[in-house]
Amino acid sequence: MIPLSRRLRAIAERIESGSRLADIGSDHALLPAFLAQRGTVSFAVAGELNPGPLEAARKQIRDSGLERMVSVRKGNGLEVISPGEVDTISIAGMGGNLIVEILSAGRENGKLEGIRRLVLQPNVGEDTLRRWLRANGWSLRSEEILEEDGKIYEILVAERAAEESDRTDMDLYGERPWEGFGSLTEQDLYRFGPYLVESGNSVFREKWLREIAKLERIADSLGQSELEESRTKRQAVVEDINRLKELIACWPKGKPSSN
Ligand code: SAM
Repeated sequence: MIPLSRRLRAIAERIESGSRLADIGSDHALLPAFLAQRGTVSFAVAGELNPGPLEAARKQIRDSGLERMVSVRKGNGLEVISPGEVDTISIAGMGGNLIVEILSAGRENGKLEGIRRLVLQPNVGEDTLRRWLRANGWSLRSEEILEEDGKIYEILVAERAAEESDRTDMDLYGERPWEGFGSLTEQDLYRFGPYLVESGNSVFREKWLREIAKLERIADSLGQSELEESRTKRQAVVEDINRLKELIACWPKGKPSSN
């Protein structure tokens, strides 16, 4: 079986058995190759924009003898698929903005028709992606956070929102009390992830401690400037740091007890 990193393995576990998958930005095509070899997918497209990774994907599929199950295609984002050809899309290892660009272009070109599940792993910009999903009729179904080789990754799974799940998403991002922190706002929930903030997973804490450290470095550097604009920016960063510190101080037990 093709060996996968912990991150790719976690993504693979989110692809449902019997799916027809398009893995966009597939690089070495490890994910579709693994899923085809394991029999999780009946058919997969490995999409790549760039010649180097495209060649690596072709070699992977050839060497694994999977040409009949995995079609390697060159193209930008979802242009490699025809409507109705696949039902699941994975996009991993890119920034949230780029994932949003790919999904938005796909939506405009009708490439998202017939897609029922998105499995996304943004390296940064998770909040932008959550907002896009909600605004474009996708219901966030699960989230996972994990660490590998010192890096922290989030995996988001979304499915087409039916009326029922639209209501669920209203609850998902609805302001909620968090003891010791006042309340988590809709904006907080886009940022932290509505499932992750509830999860109690220690990697979540580690992620936000690292973010605090990064923001402290930014505040220090802004503090060295005499400009009014830098002073204003620094104030906003310090407020953000304080809010994050407050959350971490009462996490994961910030939920008021249900009785
Ligand atoms: N998905 C793999 C993973 O998670 O291990 C590879 C991630 S790699 C960092 C990102 C890949 O996306 C690169 O191979 C790059 O060539 C490809 N890529 C970037 N923009 C793309 C686009 N608009 N359409 C298709 N592929 C793209």
